[in-house]
Amino acid sequence: MELKREEEILSAIHHCVKCKLCSIASFHPDAEWLPLCPSGQYYGYQAFYAPGKMEIFRAILEGGITEPSDGLLNAVYACTVCGACYEKCKQITSVELGAPELFEELRSEMASKGWILDAHKSIVDKIKETKNAYGEKCEYKAETTDANADVLYYIGCTARYRVPEIADAMLEIFDKLGLKYQVMGEEWCCGSVLFRTGQVEAAKELVAHNIEEIKRSGAKTVVFTCPGCMKTFEKNYPDMGVELVHSTQFLTRLGTMNLKKEDLKAAYHDPCHLGRDLGIYEEPRAVLNEVADVKAMKREKEQAWCCGSGGGVKSAFDDFALWSATERLKEAKEAGAEALASACPFCKRNLKEAAEKEELEVYDVVELVNRCLEG
Ligand code: SF4
Ligand code: SF4
Repeated sequence: MELKREEEILSAIHHCVKCKLCSIASFHPDAEWLPLCPSGQYYGYQAFYAPGKMEIFRAILEGGITEPSDGLLNAVYACTVCGACYEKCKQITSVELGAPELFEELRSEMASKGWILDAHKSIVDKIKETKNAYGEKCEYKAETTDANADVLYYIGCTARYRVPEIADAMLEIFDKLGLKYQVMGEEWCCGSVLFRTGQVEAAKELVAHNIEEIKRSGAKTVVFTCPGCMKTFEKNYPDMGVELVHSTQFLTRLGTMNLKKEDLKAAYHDPCHLGRDLGIYEEPRAVLNEVADVKAMKREKEQAWCCGSGGGVKSAFDDFALWSATERLKEAKEAGAEALASACPFCKRNLKEAAEKEELEVYDVVELVNRCLEG
């Protein structure tokens, strides 16, 4: 790491006074003190909370930690990089500590020393071999309807390999609305999981390929149903001179659609990458409001509780991921919802798995729109 960057990071870390207020959604004496940091709440040790991770980073940079223990690896990688701590700290202190990017840099520093979990290392091999994060052969079929269309739909690995109903819904919406679109002939993983787990070098080949494909398509707008992919294009790719929009932004812009509202009470779960990372809070709510009766949960928007699957947690700490999702489902039920809608394939996958025990329906907003959209 460059000396200047190291000094900036140490300065940011020294700004943290270890108050741990970033672990609580609201600490007003009259309010219910709801937890905000899934990692700290689940594991219970200081090292798993944001200030603990910062101390680990400081100790590594200053040479106090020279060997990786299992405890160290768990504290650093069992974090969804959800950004809730960062948003909360910013609200209270007005100081920009720069987490979760700070935690991604911590991981990158550790990965450069070979201090990485086997579960995350194996994702690099899977991507090298198959160009997708799940290491599977592509079975999802989607066809471009017009090779000159201005809109390109980037489907993403999770919708292709784990929750294809989201990609199906988006494609059906395009068709029902008579909108022409392109999909990439050879769509490769965006590299999100590699950036989030600190394996930045391995992502370079993916970035170069996807940029080339998008430039060749001539599309002006790239639509994402996956906020993780969109965040990666937005923050980790160079500017391609194309507009990047989330499905809910795209649908909002279309204005009035022929939607038949359902008699369904649905809570909206803010995906971390869409909300805290990209600042998109209103459009998903506006779209959901067109198709369901929206119920507000206690922790929303900047203070939303993470579903538990991001940052490489789902692949390495599934018990923790499912616990976090279960907490969110309980919150939705408390709000009087019969269904929990998100706007992210990764959230849907994890919430749906946890919902098998909680008996709550889980959807992506585009699935509900497709169901309510007359063809
Ligand atoms: S990150 Fe901010 S809120 Fe959290 S302990 Fe440090 S100073 Fe306090
Ligand atoms: S990024 Fe999320 S899980 Fe990680 S320390 Fe912050 S609040 Fe906790």
